[in-house]
Amino acid sequence: MKAIQFIAPGQPPELREVDKPAPGPGQVLLKVTAAGACHSDDFVLNAPPGAFAYPLPMTLGHEGVGVVAAVGSGVKAMTEGTSVAVYGPWGCGTCHRCAQGQENYCLNAAEQSITPPGLGTDGAMAEYLLIDNARHLVPLGDLDPVASVALTDAGLTPYHAIKASLPKLVGGTTAVVIGAGGLGHVGIQLLRHLTASRIIAVDVTEEKLAFAKEVGAHEAVLSNADTVAEVRKITGKAGATAVFDFVGYQPTLDMAMGMVGVFGDVVIVGLGDGVAAAKVGFFSQPYEVSVRAPYWGTRSELIEVLDLARDGVLHVATETFSLDDGVEAYRRLAANDLRGRAVVVP
Ligand code: NAD
Ligand code: ZN
Ligand code: ZN
Repeated sequence: MKAIQFIAPGQPPELREVDKPAPGPGQVLLKVTAAGACHSDDFVLNAPPGAFAYPLPMTLGHEGVGVVAAVGSGVKAMTEGTSVAVYGPWGCGTCHRCAQGQENYCLNAAEQSITPPGLGTDGAMAEYLLIDNARHLVPLGDLDPVASVALTDAGLTPYHAIKASLPKLVGGTTAVVIGAGGLGHVGIQLLRHLTASRIIAVDVTEEKLAFAKEVGAHEAVLSNADTVAEVRKITGKAGATAVFDFVGYQPTLDMAMGMVGVFGDVVIVGLGDGVAAAKVGFFSQPYEVSVRAPYWGTRSELIEVLDLARDGVLHVATETFSLDDGVEAYRRLAANDLRGRAVVVP
């Protein structure tokens, strides 16, 4: 079968012919119906050699949906032909956190080398995807695979990030989204639906700002040396109550810390260059500011996000590519030349 693979650090991914996997006991084989390209893939592809001890070559794609093609022995919960979404942050399934559905923070994943598909294990950018356990699958029902695949990460991650700030995002407050890309444009829609806050989007081009407004931002501000002052003109003395940084480079982290107000949240979702950091100290930020760096989301939150899409609340903007053009999808992602999410349809 065809697969888009990560070959070596610093090299673009390649379309290659690989063996079609077969499900072992407890496993499920999916015929992939759509796979999303995330900026984290770009981060991993360009990380210094050795930064990620992935077995290479490895098939990319940690956003995946598919149809059950075959089940291994002992699998009772899934039947052939069912359309499903993949919950990506796989855990051990038995520790305290996994028991609460928080497999993204599994206590044993690192020690037991349990890795998500596309981030350590072969992923969804292929004709078929092997799923380690049926519990990682959430039925899609009649949701369109292409329109919903990005919800498994570009939907789930902002949902998890925003949920923890919801009690603060009451009427009269401001939420700022830095980076209206794959994650950010879904984050704006979630904030619009779940909060009473004024939403300000920050991005680097007028096109991106127009896009952010189309998906629900009340205001949009260019990312430059004046951004903090521009945002503060809108918020007044209160500053922002929550800043979601979907970029994570030093300039955006500094921006976030510069615009947050007393009791506010700075939520670092973007991986940036991997070394950028927010400076925190008694005199460095307004009183009672909280800084968080959340990772992905829980299994039950994925079910909630899919339900929101079913209710018509979330619309992922997608640009579709064939598997043969999957390498081009990654090139466009790296060039910041996408509107919403690049989705590969095998
Ligand atoms: P994307 O490329 O689709 O979107 C990034 C957006 O940020 C683009 O609109 C771009 O124009 C904008 N941007 C770039 N530089 C900017 C700047 N200086 N100021 C303002 N805006 C800027 O990326 P994505 O797939 O949405 O991922 C966003 C980030 O989130 C990446 O760093 C990715 O690795 C990370 N991520 C983290 C998690 C997690 O669990 N924490 C999960 C998924 C992705
Ligand atoms: Zn991702
Ligand atoms: Zn666990």
